[in-house]
Amino acid sequence: MHILETRNLKYSYNNDIEALKGINFIAGRKQKIAIIGANGAGKSTLFKHFNGILTPSSGEVLVHGEPISKSNLKEIRKTVGIVFQNSDDQIFSPTVEEDIAFGPTNLGLDEETIQHRVNETLRLLSIEHLRDRVPHHLSGGEKKRVAIAGVLAMEPQVIVLDEPTAGLDPRGVKDLIGFLNELPEKYGMTIIFSTHSVELVPEIADYVYVLDKGAIVAQGGVRDVFGNE
Ligand code: ADP
Ligand code: ADP
Repeated sequence: MHILETRNLKYSYNNDIEALKGINFIAGRKQKIAIIGANGAGKSTLFKHFNGILTPSSGEVLVHGEPISKSNLKEIRKTVGIVFQNSDDQIFSPTVEEDIAFGPTNLGLDEETIQHRVNETLRLLSIEHLRDRVPHHLSGGEKKRVAIAGVLAMEPQVIVLDEPTAGLDPRGVKDLIGFLNELPEKYGMTIIFSTHSVELVPEIADYVYVLDKGAIVAQGGVRDVFGNE
């Protein structure tokens, strides 16, 4: 069974422009999937359906084969974690540590487990030194890592990242590529990310969807879509 799937997903903002025009998307366990497309293609709109932030105008979104609904939304958000493009939308606590603890606390985990997860993700993202800092005072790259840590601390099975390298310097991009590549093998996670940096795709993804004006216009294994790069 696919961990995440959309069936003929259509979505219109204000019942006006059709931002998604019938998307059939699947993601399996441990896959690394890239979604590429120009600005306005519909990538963010699609991602917001993956954990129920947006509700389809028609069609379905399924997680572990179950359609997303009001009654399983909490469970879905444990399974699918989203890292937004703009880290400022995601970090709001007085310290980095509290920010990372926010998700696990909301899940109702005990204090010891929360501390353990906070420490683990701080280590994983090499941001232990930022533990007591004010998130809003950090650099773009540091904020991005805090936002990713906050999502990982919830231990989702799927992590969705919207333009994860936007605003990072080359070193930050390289670190992120290395880090993301470890997640499926180490933690059995599925990675879905969007980018308009095509050169990034073979560095991370094994499968790619090309989105244009709300429709999938190409898809395939990275080697099929990009040749033998
Ligand atoms: P294999 O096990 O042969 O390496 P997969 O099981 O990943 O390959 O894929 C089997 C078939 O499904 C292939 O045709 C592949 O292109 C396709 N496929 C793989 N991942 C996806 C995906 N996320 N969405 C749609 N089709 C996929
Ligand atoms: P991408 O992430 O690929 O840049 P988006 O999903 O942000 O694309 O946008 C897809 C389409 O939906 C665009 O035409 C965009 O203008 C429109 N759109 C996005 N967000 C909104 C919104 N909040 N209200 C109205 N239209 C929107």
